[in-house]
Amino acid sequence: MSALLDGGTAPAGAVSPAARSVLDAWREEPAGLFTAGEWGPAATGGRRTTRDPATGAVLADVADAGPEDVGPAVEEARAVLEDRRPGSWWAATPSARGRLLWRVADLLAEHAEELAQLEVLDQGKTLATARGEVAGAAEQFRYFAGAATKLTGTTFRPSSPVPTHAAPGARLVASTVLEPVGVVAAITPWNSPLLMAAMKVAPALAAGCVVVLKPAEDTPLTSVRLVQLLVRALDEAGLPRGAVSLLTGGGAVGAALAEHPGVDKVAFTGSTATGRAIVRSAGRPGGHLPRLTLELGGKSPAVVMADAEMASAVPGVARGVFANSGQVCVAGSRVYVERRAHDAFVEALAGVAAGTPLGHGLHPGAQLGPLASPAHAARVAQRVADGVAAGAQVVGSGGPVADASGGGCFFAPTVLVGADPTSPLVQEEVFGPVVVVAPFDDVEEVLAAANDTDYGLAASVWTTDLRTAQRVVDGVRAGTVWVNCHSVFSPELVKGGRRTSGWGVENGMEGLAGYLEAKTVCSLV
Ligand code: ADP
Repeated sequence: MSALLDGGTAPAGAVSPAARSVLDAWREEPAGLFTAGEWGPAATGGRRTTRDPATGAVLADVADAGPEDVGPAVEEARAVLEDRRPGSWWAATPSARGRLLWRVADLLAEHAEELAQLEVLDQGKTLATARGEVAGAAEQFRYFAGAATKLTGTTFRPSSPVPTHAAPGARLVASTVLEPVGVVAAITPWNSPLLMAAMKVAPALAAGCVVVLKPAEDTPLTSVRLVQLLVRALDEAGLPRGAVSLLTGGGAVGAALAEHPGVDKVAFTGSTATGRAIVRSAGRPGGHLPRLTLELGGKSPAVVMADAEMASAVPGVARGVFANSGQVCVAGSRVYVERRAHDAFVEALAGVAAGTPLGHGLHPGAQLGPLASPAHAARVAQRVADGVAAGAQVVGSGGPVADASGGGCFFAPTVLVGADPTSPLVQEEVFGPVVVVAPFDDVEEVLAAANDTDYGLAASVWTTDLRTAQRVVDGVRAGTVWVNCHSVFSPELVKGGRRTSGWGVENGMEGLAGYLEAKTVCSLV
């Protein structure tokens, strides 16, 4: 069984003075909503307490917005979008937007350690993971800073006949102009809060949109800091603060944003169930059909051929599913191993699982932190128990781990074999450090198994044979396929899901296109 270091507590003095002073300030005076360019309380005065999932300890309070806060926030955001006066957001050149985003990246880098600590405390992940995500968030801003000045349209001669009223010698000239989609509601999940916010806020601002950010209710802290730093950069640049708004609150705020006619686009990352609710709301009779980008669930397969370099495949596959305690949408939670390598692989993977020290994310020895909330830890435990009741067997140890401090969220990495392929354990996202392993005999068979879920987010193949790798790349239904790696991200790598894993893509210039609308201008000249 994985060891739980110091009962799940952080060593004394582990929280840096910078992170401590942020939390102390928000304990005195809760972090507010940011709307109409000002910080303020929720309309009801409501607050929400956020806790450390490792210990259950109170961290800070944030304003708890309700649906009644949404209308005024969106109307203010629209007013900023529609303002065409000198000094308005509309008047900011692409270069000015690019410089703003680059400055935000610098501010994130300057505050990297404090942000990483806040993410650990709020979400539970390890400090090493959090540092990587803060650096990744800064990279999002740098990539889209550069992209802001690369947005150009086209001019061409259309084939249509010149209208009969045309003066002699007149001809048609057409342009395709790219315009910002408008007011964007960015609704983010709790697994990688800062990174997910950056993936939406940076391209939206690069495109010239106005953003209303709604972080997940359990993990708001780094989103509040992001908006504080963004407001600082806007002020320094002399740009309108209202280009960004922040509504910390629950799912009802997300739902109200998705329904509000002043929202032109919803950029959402979260569960497939919530994604469906957003689609229903967008498509309701009388609705305004907002544009949607949906990054939803996954049940990503990792296909391991017997010829794979096992010395890197075993830790690579383990990282692909256990990193961030499996709370990663692309987690490789179904592993298929070629039969002659299966038993040895399972033994090695279970060995990695058992040897992974759990602990508070700020504990220097911890390789995995707790799950993000007690409710989520209970869901993960239930899903494993149901899978075992349906015939799956846990290899070695795994499952919930009691902690000394009462957080109730620690869950040891768990390897299962013999799972019924039709059971929820194999078909549905667990979002915990839980992996099912099954043998296969040939590539056709494993492709059929890999594609046998409703999802289509990501996949990986582990092999030294280029031809086999290509057969899996071609045959697997997924938005991303990794070869001999898993969960490699970068702002230029387009990220999207097939089927119930989502609509549209994020990242890359294709992701930026989701924040733009083409306008055709056709002139008789
Ligand atoms: P989970 O079920 O894993 O907590 P969700 O998909 O519900 O994940 O949460 C992702 C984000 O969506 C959070 O910010 C949450 O508050 C928000 N959310 C929840 N319900 C809705 C809804 N009906 N419409 C829009 N956003 C929602």
